[in-house]
Amino acid sequence: MAKIQIKDLVKSYDGEYKAVNKVNLEIGDNDFCVLLGPSGCGKTTLLRMIAGLETITDGDIYIDGVHMNNVLPKDRDIAMVFQSYALYPHMTVYKNMAFGLKMKKVPLDEIDRRIQDAAKYLDLEEYRDRKPRNLSGGQQQRVALGRALVKKPKVFLMDEPLSNLDAKLRNQTRETIVRIHENAGATTIYVTHDQVEAMSMGTKIVVMNKGVVQQIGSPEEIFEYPDNMFVAGFIGSPSINFIEGTYSKGAVTFGDTKFKVLKDQEKAMDAYEGKNIIMGIRPEFFEDMADIPQKEEDLNLISMRINFVERLGSESIINGCVNDQKVTAKIRHTHRYAIDDQIDICVKAKKVLFFDKETRQAIGREIR
Ligand code: ATP
Repeated sequence: MAKIQIKDLVKSYDGEYKAVNKVNLEIGDNDFCVLLGPSGCGKTTLLRMIAGLETITDGDIYIDGVHMNNVLPKDRDIAMVFQSYALYPHMTVYKNMAFGLKMKKVPLDEIDRRIQDAAKYLDLEEYRDRKPRNLSGGQQQRVALGRALVKKPKVFLMDEPLSNLDAKLRNQTRETIVRIHENAGATTIYVTHDQVEAMSMGTKIVVMNKGVVQQIGSPEEIFEYPDNMFVAGFIGSPSINFIEGTYSKGAVTFGDTKFKVLKDQEKAMDAYEGKNIIMGIRPEFFEDMADIPQKEEDLNLISMRINFVERLGSESIINGCVNDQKVTAKIRHTHRYAIDDQIDICVKAKKVLFFDKETRQAIGREIR
């Protein structure tokens, strides 16, 4: 377990563009922290700076209060797992796992005990004398995890460790990694561009774009209360609906549709009187009016013409148009809907988010 503090961290490779731009982050004991963002946003660079594999242009990193900027990677009490597994090809599974410990002069019987435990835990016992080329991708990745585990580090750093695995193995290995994190009582920092992976594994999600942290929060916070349109749009599948409308006197109008704004949101909206704003509505927050027995006060209703229906088994994704704006709704039915049907769907007023059209920041919440 370890506490990691990152202060005003900057990395520039060419002296101009900042691959990591003034990142501030506190990661607590036991956190499973996920760095999430699109390709090139700086996640790997940030992770490699924490590992000590990349020089720091500016700013500071502390692990358990100790300044790490000039500490060698091997002295940081971390273990890293890479997408490419990075196993030594000429060594057996056993030797791959033992190598780091031997370098640290851990007694041989202790090394043996730790490897036996890890091999049992990761289902690798029967492969201990094989070389990596004679293992499947999933087995190789488990060896890489085992090699990290036997080090008993304070911090696990993982860089897209599941990217090379097929969907089924990815799910299984996801579970294994969360179990390792919980049992080892270590702090984990995990890089991915896959939001499903992030949301299902992380306790703390750091959403990044172009080197800048966009939001830090629990999976629930960033899903329900995104700080800006980037986070709102990056998280969620299908993507959030952005609908432009004009705000006036407690309501937003788009075409012939009017959405009520909750009384306690109105104060923040005062500054937008007569102006255009963007509403954000998650597809899963829409409901079919036919499913609502009692019409509640704060329901916002839209009538939508269906363009396309995706039936997913237990639910449907309905794509349609409302006053020329595309809208997607995810509804718990598999039948009832057909192309060109006109349906009434609704969303609770408290589930509608509002964004400033110019700054793209959420309206009514403190901007971090
Ligand atoms: P991906 O998900 O594709 O791995 P990432 O979010 O991890 O992306 P980084 O690999 O950290 O992103 O890269 C951030 C930026 O820094 C990118 O614009 C990248 O081109 C640049 N970059 C990364 N490594 C170097 C390097 N060694 N020299 C110059 N530029 C680099």
